[in-house]
Amino acid sequence: MWCPFLVRSLIFFDIQKRILATLYAIKAGTNSVDFLMENYTSDSSDGENDTKTIDLAYLLRNPESVENHLNQYLNNDSKKYKDIEKIILHHNELHVVPRNISKFTNVKILDISNNGLTELPDVFRHCQLSNLILKNNRLKNETLPKEFSECVSLKELNLSGNDLTAFPEQIFSFCNLKFLYLGGNNMRNIAKDIYRLKHLQVLSLGGNIITDVPFSVGLLKNLQALVLCDNQIESLPPNIANLHSLRSLLLHKNKLRTLPPEIVALRNLTELSLRDNPLIVRFVSDITHQPASLLELAGRAIKLHNIDVQSGDLPRTLQNYLESAHRCVNPNCKGVFFDNRIEHVKFVDFCGKYRIPLLQYLCSSKCATTPSEDDIRPQRTYLMKKVLLG
Ligand SMILES: [Zn+2]
Repeated sequence: MWCPFLVRSLIFFDIQKRILATLYAIKAGTNSVDFLMENYTSDSSDGENDTKTIDLAYLLRNPESVENHLNQYLNNDSKKYKDIEKIILHHNELHVVPRNISKFTNVKILDISNNGLTELPDVFRHCQLSNLILKNNRLKNETLPKEFSECVSLKELNLSGNDLTAFPEQIFSFCNLKFLYLGGNNMRNIAKDIYRLKHLQVLSLGGNIITDVPFSVGLLKNLQALVLCDNQIESLPPNIANLHSLRSLLLHKNKLRTLPPEIVALRNLTELSLRDNPLIVRFVSDITHQPASLLELAGRAIKLHNIDVQSGDLPRTLQNYLESAHRCVNPNCKGVFFDNRIEHVKFVDFCGKYRIPLLQYLCSSKCATTPSEDDIRPQRTYLMKKVLLG
């Protein structure tokens, strides 16, 4: 017989657990990206009680208590611990990782988020881990292992909401990573070697103090979501347009004044958030223009008049210089430029409702005073489905 009080308590406990989960999800800045992708979320363990899972979530247990609980599996003669694939320990009081956890060699999902972890041992030796969730702890760059053992099985790593001050380069050991969450830290940079994680589908870096986005981010061809919101970013590299799989690009709360024009080529983009950026809303009128160098003027003349330059005619450095010419974006101008260029803001119509400023370069100030047809008639070729400006 079920005691009514016990039933009420269980229902209350279940409701409380779900409310807590929701509140923590809101606090952790969970956004639409989490629902876009088929990755593990802390809530997905709710209610599971199968033989492959050890679920000790929301129990406020200390390391010793969790170790004792895990030992019950390890000391069991039936070797059932070998069946365990999921260990869920979020919302406890584990300032260290339970030492016996590495004995569960078949574990695929390990969630130790919201625990106050101050250090992380290298738990990847001989591991089968596919998802490692360590969000909302107190991990620092210095308290991560200097090197992680290579773990080819790891698909998801979540280190959001910790105390990282720099991009942790040790994670390049996880060459098959698809989901990387590093939001809500104090990171100033994105590692230039990020291109090595070539299977990345989600790169979440919101809520840091990043100022630069390196060119190598544009080499992550499989990226579907790039979260850069709430940082100090002033510009994006133009090769971001090479991310043809990108569906979600979150840029709100940054210092962007313009966007690279190449961004309109992202045909799969369905979500672009831009609110809280000092985006330029009018033409830049006070353009300061330095006179072009003699080298630039000579180079421009050679290109404009199609003067044939054979190899051997010029020193190699000058030939390289000639090859670095950029064509002026004004369709009414046939000019080229090298280093001396005029910044030009082109407004492109997205959603048929918003016009966003794209940064382009023109060859001279004359080109800037004669707006091209594109500026008068908004380009409607690429329309985004959702642009969040406010
Ligand atoms: Zn021009």
